Amino acid sequence: MYNLPNVRGEYKFDFDCSKISWLRVGGRADVLFSPHDEDDLKYFLRQIDSQIPITIIGLASNILIRDKGIRGVTIRLGKGFREMKITDDGVIAGSAVSGLQLANFGLENSIANFEFFSGIPGTIGGMLTMNAGAFGNDISKILKSAICINLKGEEEMIDVKKFGYSYRSNSLKEKYIFTKALFRHESGVHTEIADKIQEISNIRKATQPSARTAGSTFKNPTNHKAWFLIQKACETQMRVGNAYFSTLHSNFIVTEDGATATDVENLILLAKNMVKSKFNIYLEEEIIILGEK
Ligand SMILES: Cc1cc2nc3c(=O)[nH]c(=O)nc-3n(C[C@H](O)[C@H](O)[C@H](O)COP(=O)(O)OP(=O)(O)OC[C@H]3O[C@@H](n4cnc5c(N)ncnc54)[C@H](O)[C@@H]3O)c2cc1C
Repeated sequence: MYNLPNVRGEYKFDFDCSKISWLRVGGRADVLFSPHDEDDLKYFLRQIDSQIPITIIGLASNILIRDKGIRGVTIRLGKGFREMKITDDGVIAGSAVSGLQLANFGLENSIANFEFFSGIPGTIGGMLTMNAGAFGNDISKILKSAICINLKGEEEMIDVKKFGYSYRSNSLKEKYIFTKALFRHESGVHTEIADKIQEISNIRKATQPSARTAGSTFKNPTNHKAWFLIQKACETQMRVGNAYFSTLHSNFIVTEDGATATDVENLILLAKNMVKSKFNIYLEEEIIILGEK
């Protein structure tokens, strides 16, 4: 189908994205590529025909992949991008490291300010894009710089100031694949870190669904909470097909067996319309929608 470079990593063809998407919906990716390491990724990007669309995903915990799937090559970083180490400059974490893995690394090494990672199910790569955060902390507050590879396969080290971070967003104009992050190293007290991680886990269990969801559907509009607007805009539970807003957290969409990405996308539209007509407030998606319309 496509003329693909001879790489050391793995290609999977006609890959069913619903298997990896946290929402458990979505179509097929023409090609899923897991590069062996950074050099393999750069080689692939230098060799691939620039007409073939490239998409990068992490653990798919914040994306909705449409039912028609993703054309071109979808890149997902794996084993070769899971390094974690402490250096004189700070803490290095590869982009395929998960939030929980980094929080545990922080605990083992008594590093403060990594606790918030524990409840975010995505990877460092996804978090760098989303400026992920929770409980008063976010990536932009602890990041120093990141290794970024552009679509021509060229590597750059980008300082946090150049990310132009804002709430769940960054302003890097060029399309980059982040491969590694350097975080500030602040020492903390082991028992306090452990207590904080436990507290975060307790709060999440009590207030959020943890499966078949992509987390917050919408960003909080200035001075408003999206969950509150959704709850008040609709007297009964909002549902389309087999997708609905959770009763535990009304900004989290949850899917049941038989749900489609179209159900989820239509539910997003329904909530936007209802909140707009009731409060005249525009809800902006936090979830990233990918794939063919
Ligand atoms: C139960 C649950 C709870 C959640 N709680 C929170 C929370 O408290 N706070 C919060 O901020 N988020 C939360 N999320 C959302 C999600 O976990 C984060 O946004 C996370 O950062 C997404 O990471 P990911 O690896 O899954 O990225 P994906 O969802 O796969 O991708 C997200 C975006 O990042 C891009 N991307 C992924 N990897 C890379 C890379 N290596 N280089 C460049 N771009 C890349 C993708 O193209 C896409 O635009 C939650 C989600 C769930 C399911």
